Amino acid sequence: MSLLQVQQLQRSFGGVRAVDGVSFILARGEIAALIGPNGAGKSTLFNLIDGQMAPNQGRVLFDGESLTAWSTAERTRRGIGRTFQVAQTFATLTVLQNVQLALVAAEGGALSITDLLWDLRAEAGNALLAHVGLQHHAADAAASLAYGDIKRLELALALAAKPRLLLMDEPTAGMAAAERFELMRTIVAIAEANNTAVLFTEHSVDVVFGFARRVLVLSRGRLIADGAPEVVRADTEVQRLYLGEEA
Ligand code: ADP
Ligand code: MG
Repeated sequence: MSLLQVQQLQRSFGGVRAVDGVSFILARGEIAALIGPNGAGKSTLFNLIDGQMAPNQGRVLFDGESLTAWSTAERTRRGIGRTFQVAQTFATLTVLQNVQLALVAAEGGALSITDLLWDLRAEAGNALLAHVGLQHHAADAAASLAYGDIKRLELALALAAKPRLLLMDEPTAGMAAAERFELMRTIVAIAEANNTAVLFTEHSVDVVFGFARRVLVLSRGRLIADGAPEVVRADTEVQRLYLGEEA
């Protein structure tokens, strides 16, 4: 059975059809890029999948079950992880404490300050930090991290809930090229090791075609292409869209 089924999703804001009848299926472990110009509806589509917004029409199935009645928190618990275009962390806590909080939250618990002092989940937290390459920053305040490291921390926070689907909105935004590729290599390695499906948005064409096994193209809320990278790259409508953007 497919992991994610998006069926005829539609969401409008006033007169703007941000997501306009989008359908696709994502298999377990599939690594797909969602691309399209600014305003195409990518973030809105993520919001509809993770439950931050309700669709006007259509529905999303996860593991064959309709998500409609599930809150965002419940979707996270059931395996839908998300990172944001603008990273969200607790700035005054340490990097490790941020991950400890996420690990305990993923178990459905609430964390008190004494739990932090007692090093609850510190071992699991350190292991997660090692996975994303942040082990040397465990004791640093999250606020002190360089931009790229904040994105890594955000990835660790999303991974704490052991997602089966990871939605990543511009995971490499604002990064230099070398750092982008390094982070994407990390994401893909973790996803492959855990059979985690990843749907990510990304502006860099090199990153998209370097890492996605499948590319979905949104334009004005509609899916205009969906397929293997080389097929999508050769699509004349996609080429026109991107050439049009540069013009
Ligand atoms: P993308 O992530 O592809 O850049 P968005 O999903 O952010 O696109 O936006 C799609 C369209 O929906 C845009 O026209 C945007 O202005 C509009 N939009 C997105 N979110 C809202 C919102 N909360 N309220 C009103 N309009 C919105
Ligand atoms: Mg966006």
